[in-house]
Amino acid sequence: MTLKNHFRCVECNEKAAELHRDYSNGILKITICESCQKPVDKYIEYDPVIILIDATLCKTQAFRHILFNTNLNIHWKLCVFCLLCEAYLRWSRLHGSEQSSDPADIIRYTKEWEFYGMFGLAALELSAFCGGVLCFLWAVVGRLQGGTLDFGLLLKALLLSCYGKVLLIPTVIWEHDYSPLCLGLIKLFVLTSNSQAIRVILNSSRRLSLMAVCLGLLTETCVAQVCQRLQWSVQDVWMYE
Ligand SMILES: [Zn+2]
Repeated sequence: MTLKNHFRCVECNEKAAELHRDYSNGILKITICESCQKPVDKYIEYDPVIILIDATLCKTQAFRHILFNTNLNIHWKLCVFCLLCEAYLRWSRLHGSEQSSDPADIIRYTKEWEFYGMFGLAALELSAFCGGVLCFLWAVVGRLQGGTLDFGLLLKALLLSCYGKVLLIPTVIWEHDYSPLCLGLIKLFVLTSNSQAIRVILNSSRRLSLMAVCLGLLTETCVAQVCQRLQWSVQDVWMYE
């Protein structure tokens, strides 16, 4: 690897060439940041569980470690996994009201295509959210402030920071045990992580990242509303035919 200064100090965001130095006699020495005189990345010594806990607490240092100093490439897999959970949750909510002990009711499982529809809808809403956030950042940071944006890294950060959606798994497992409050809290947690991830990537103010997330949420809500209206009109056409 000839990449120079592609790591970041987790404390002060200063660029660094290496995280540790490997001496030939088997001694590893953690690099000290020239700017803040603290270890460039203390997390390389930490257990992944501690890193996960710190990331859950939305600590900037943990976010910098994950986004800049690791080669974590699970964002697309994580994204598909979270979308599957979300699709199943929506699908089971759709049929939750039609409970029946009749074995013939198994026919409802043939309505599988509805599940794929829900998956598509969830994917569309996520795309709208990411699109809204990226457009806002492109307009404000790229255009107004004249900064450069790494859209690939921003998208990776947004998808990775959606990891809070795995909390939907318990709601999926214990079907019908969800509450709007619980789902609302998961959403709030995911949005907070999204905002923190943007803040870390751009090294920007909290206000800017919050505004970006709010705009993304607005785009997502608009797309969801449009889809729902379309669905209703399609259902109306089917009923009156
Ligand atoms: Zn530093």
